[in-house]
Amino acid sequence: MLVRTPIVVVLNQVSVPTARQLMTALPGSQLYGLASRTTDVDVSFANFGDTVRQLYREGVPTIGLCAAGILIRTLAPVLTDTKTEPPVVAVAADGSAVVPLLGGMTGVNALAEKIAAVLNIRPAITTTGKLQFNTVLPDPPVGYRLANPEHVKAFIADLIAGVSVSLDGDAPWLTASDIPFGVAGKRTISVTTQTIPGSLDRLVYHPTSLVLAITQPSQFTVTEWIDVIRDRLATANLALAAVACIAIPKTTVGAAIAGIGKICNLPIRFVESAQLPPDLTVISHDPNLTIFSAKQPIDPHQIGQAQGKLTVVGTGPGSPQWMSPQVRETIRAATDLVGYHTYLDLVKDLSVGKECHGSDNRVELDRSRLALDLAARGKNVVVVSSGDPGIFAMAAAVLEVLDLEAKPEWQTIDLQINPGISAMQAAAAAIGAPLGHDFCAISLSDLLKPWEVVAARIAAAAEADFALAFYNPVSSQRSWQLAAAKEILLKSRSTNTPVILARNLGRTGQEVKVITLGELAPASADMRTVILIGSSMVVVGYIRLDRTNSSGRSEIGGAELMYGRWGTGGLGARLV
Ligand code: SAH
Repeated sequence: MLVRTPIVVVLNQVSVPTARQLMTALPGSQLYGLASRTTDVDVSFANFGDTVRQLYREGVPTIGLCAAGILIRTLAPVLTDTKTEPPVVAVAADGSAVVPLLGGMTGVNALAEKIAAVLNIRPAITTTGKLQFNTVLPDPPVGYRLANPEHVKAFIADLIAGVSVSLDGDAPWLTASDIPFGVAGKRTISVTTQTIPGSLDRLVYHPTSLVLAITQPSQFTVTEWIDVIRDRLATANLALAAVACIAIPKTTVGAAIAGIGKICNLPIRFVESAQLPPDLTVISHDPNLTIFSAKQPIDPHQIGQAQGKLTVVGTGPGSPQWMSPQVRETIRAATDLVGYHTYLDLVKDLSVGKECHGSDNRVELDRSRLALDLAARGKNVVVVSSGDPGIFAMAAAVLEVLDLEAKPEWQTIDLQINPGISAMQAAAAAIGAPLGHDFCAISLSDLLKPWEVVAARIAAAAEADFALAFYNPVSSQRSWQLAAAKEILLKSRSTNTPVILARNLGRTGQEVKVITLGELAPASADMRTVILIGSSMVVVGYIRLDRTNSSGRSEIGGAELMYGRWGTGGLGARLV
């Protein structure tokens, strides 16, 4: 289980001292406060319900300094799986009560106990098993994994009913609990690295005390490695869940490594052989793979250096509602954020406590190198782009640098791209569906490609009657390109072709205007504008529907609607 840093939420200033006090027990935690009623918080929010539900959906442990009932009502509509939901704790504003509400299987009781300890009170624990046995069988401590969670509820019910139980194996947290272990019990709790079947009669816990050491990763492909690992574990009858990590020599090159870790869902650690703990015993060895075992669970962080991670994310055009939960979660988990200052500002709320490496626009390749170097040192790096990271943005820059400069230490980085909503989609949604059929997107910037290429593409797209999205239409140093693009378009499109000028989408000052191609001029746009040019099939009209755009703040005058026509009649006839 991934232990994530909790967020403490307060609704008023009176709760802030209590919140700060309990946060001393939760290193890295952040304080969220209602904007209208609190000061000196790490992050201000406007809407309590939305904020708390969002944190729950993202799996962030949440502590609310408010009535338990408020949290219950807020989260009731979004409650999900008890096995995966994050811990949620209610704490009285004056610190006199701590109530674990949700997340019994993901550590809420341990969290409540930690908080109660700093507040010098007893937590209001209501989990029956916990009360009776002073341990939470469904949620073992870090270092142990329950192999058969599907049986745990009935198992606990039996223990509460007095059915006898014995312990097979060794785990200090179980021996220290109040479970009345005897010999030859009707039920058994097994603690073992071996693969043994769990059942209603037997709970199986795997201590994460194995390390898989691979000496020459380039020997096999990812798929072959997965087979080798599965085979070797199966031959020794060892459970994959008992493996703490895969250890690989620091000098390793080759992208296969990231794949092995991901498929096996195991952390990769880069080691010099001397960095393996001395008390490990070899339990299986061949030239490709050595399996080591320790007496106690191993904390992978104690072994070598982490595998670096680099994710290029798109935050959407601006409004937080347009940022995907995946992107939010990725940013939260990062150690380092890299990006253009303005884009880092868009995610300020999520960046508390992280190293932020802001840079000016137009240094994409330097920024990519920096991000790759940080990741190669084991950091969890996020490169922040606006819109979609793969559309005129940083994903292509990072991949280009990775490919062309190919530093060996970059090859083992776990590289991911998280998509986002692009400006053209937000612009289209604001006005209807002008990109409803074939369209293409062209950047009018000639910084990365010669203008002749841009001009040829505009001409071809116009001739083929695509709807068009123009990115980077105009900047302070570049204004003639838009006029040139218009001239090219006019060779095959009429001056009446509808043009959408969408500026600051999802940001303060959002503006969406419809003009004709004849009216289009460099002064119509700037670098915060995306321009959509309708195809000859685009329909402009009026609808009677009450319409706000998806950022919730429509500033489009009237009820103008535009959409790409499907064929003839149909939707068009109804809407215009
Ligand atoms: N990756 C971004 C595009 C970056 S290129 C995306 O997918 O949206 C920068 C250009 O994108 C700007 O010049 C402008 O044309 C457009 N753009 C980005 N954000 C915008 C916004 N909020 N409103 C309007 N246009 C935007």
